[in-house]
Amino acid sequence: MSGSRTEISSLGEFGLIDHLTQNIELQNASSVLGVGDDAAVIDHFGKQTVISTDLLIEGVHFDLMYTPLKHLGYKSVVVNLSDIYAMNATPTQITLSIGISNRFSLEALDEFYEGVYAACEKYGVDLVGGDTTSSQKGFIISITAIGEVAPDKFVKRSTAQKGDLICVSGYLGSAYVGLLFLEREKKIFMESPGVQPDLEGESYVIGRLLKPEARKDIVEFLAQSEITPTAMMDVSDGLSSEVLHICKQSGLGCVLYEEKIPVAEQMRQAAYKFEIDPTACALSGGEDYELVFTIPQDQHEKLVLNEEISVIGYMTESEQGANIITKGGSKYPITAQGWNHLK
Ligand code: ADP
Ligand code: MG
Repeated sequence: MSGSRTEISSLGEFGLIDHLTQNIELQNASSVLGVGDDAAVIDHFGKQTVISTDLLIEGVHFDLMYTPLKHLGYKSVVVNLSDIYAMNATPTQITLSIGISNRFSLEALDEFYEGVYAACEKYGVDLVGGDTTSSQKGFIISITAIGEVAPDKFVKRSTAQKGDLICVSGYLGSAYVGLLFLEREKKIFMESPGVQPDLEGESYVIGRLLKPEARKDIVEFLAQSEITPTAMMDVSDGLSSEVLHICKQSGLGCVLYEEKIPVAEQMRQAAYKFEIDPTACALSGGEDYELVFTIPQDQHEKLVLNEEISVIGYMTESEQGANIITKGGSKYPITAQGWNHLK
């Protein structure tokens, strides 16, 4: 970091808010009134409004020892947008509230906001409000994302049908392995601060943890292909946990095939370094921010155009439970904590 340090207290609360929000240019017609009044005004012109909120606490949800502030700003926004996409909706606005201690300089906060605005620009959303407060210790971030969807086109978790195909976007498990590397290097650093981190060759998995993307492209592809998923959610806690949510809320069971679960080659190699099973990482590791969704079987051929979507199983009657068939052909129940049989 550069040498200059501006104390936040030198600006005062209103000076700070003004500094952080002065360059906002509203991009969406739905953003009628943004920062600067008692409340923002949004008009979704006959569409339905989708809202999701998240609270992130330093030391619980993120570790500033290995998370650059710019990445943290970017990720904080992206994880909220992911929830809006998971409803089959388009995010249009966010509000961002922060709690900051005097440990933070204006320069540090500027870095965080650089990441926030980069995500807003990339996903076409407007920052229309927030709150700024001091915290005694630690950094607190609360983001609310707002989106729009054509009336009744939102997709819930509870409406999967028996026989539907279970699909997932991208690759799973990488962010978890990235976290293992960063935690390992942090531990080494705490024990001997002179040692340089050894993260050589692991940029893919670490990037998946520190700078995730929301699957806007998948939601757009589904719309263009006229596929309406019967159920959908994003993968934030791990595939097992998410699939079990869809099963439970839809009153169904499922079968997944281990060989169909998409894992990146870089992740597979990285997992072996920790002597852990890549499939276990995909099932139980979190923070992938991919989408898992179900579609009727007769929609299957529309998927072949998109290499980013894998069909990993299908929904069954609830009596059959939620199971995974391993590469060796054995069948195991899926558990939310993960699937430890291969370890
Ligand atoms: P109030 O006293 O009504 O809560 P504030 O002084 O906190 O108003 O906020 C003034 C304006 O600045 C409001 O539009 C609010 O949404 C916005 N705002 C406050 N903090 C932030 C922030 N950290 N990021 C973006 N906008 C903010
Ligand atoms: Mg306020």
